[in-house]
Amino acid sequence: MTKKLEGKTAVVTGASKGIGAAIARDLAAAGARVVVNYASSKEGAEKVVADIVAKGGKAVAVHGDMSKAADVAHLFAETKKSYGGLDILVNNAGIYKFAPLEEVTEELFHSQFNLNVLGLLMATKEAVKLFGDKGGSVINISSTVTRITPPHSSVYSATKGAVDAITGVLAKELGPRKIRVNAINPGLIATEGTHVGGMSEGDMKGWIEATAPLGRIGQVDDIAPTAVYLASDDSKYMTGQTLFVSGGL
Ligand code: NAP
Repeated sequence: MTKKLEGKTAVVTGASKGIGAAIARDLAAAGARVVVNYASSKEGAEKVVADIVAKGGKAVAVHGDMSKAADVAHLFAETKKSYGGLDILVNNAGIYKFAPLEEVTEELFHSQFNLNVLGLLMATKEAVKLFGDKGGSVINISSTVTRITPPHSSVYSATKGAVDAITGVLAKELGPRKIRVNAINPGLIATEGTHVGGMSEGDMKGWIEATAPLGRIGQVDDIAPTAVYLASDDSKYMTGQTLFVSGGL
């Protein structure tokens, strides 16, 4: 049986762990060649690549800090060198630092905006060049925080609010070039990042179990299939959408 993404090439930013790693694995399982980007976890990225290759898929790991324009350009140059073109971009690389208003600083603001917003714009700009005339699919990993606006998340929620806005804007701007732009807005998902931040075990987990209609926090395999859907022709008439994959939260 032909796989849904056979013959396609995908870049997944921040794919050495967490949601990005799961998306990279699922895109590869659907037949895509995958560029697994990482910033600091070379070992994690190489493990994702090895797992994909062991299952008969194709992937390469490429370093790049997505908040730096030169690194972003390098990632897409390496993509062209390895696979010749591009069809799918998953803008997943992102950081979340919660803090009450009193602790909001320039550093807290710029570190999150430079990656979550500027990095996403720079990566999309480079990807569009590689999509060429055939078009492509851009999938932005936003967050449910844009709807629930939890306390202490002013800067992080603002970055993801910007991601939702950019998703709508670029869908309009790039639609005529056959490029679809959609977002996935996950609820709280158990990942290395949420574990280190104490979110997937603490009060927030309890609140979600009590509040979300599906009564549990998410796992990375709750999110990755939606990325495959948005990458594939199954969603070919869908653009500018924000899909909340959050247990109904
Ligand atoms: P995670 O476990 O902390 O993993 C983050 C990934 O991003 C890692 O692969 C990391 O690479 C990479 N990364 C960090 N800084 C980077 C940079 N400057 N350049 C390139 N890559 C970088 O995170 P996660 O929980 O999977 O979250 C992934 C995305 O989902 C983020 O955009 C986050 O905002 C969003 N999200 C997460 C949740 C959740 O509950 N987990 C909910 C909603 C939205 P290295 O390890 O190599 O540094």
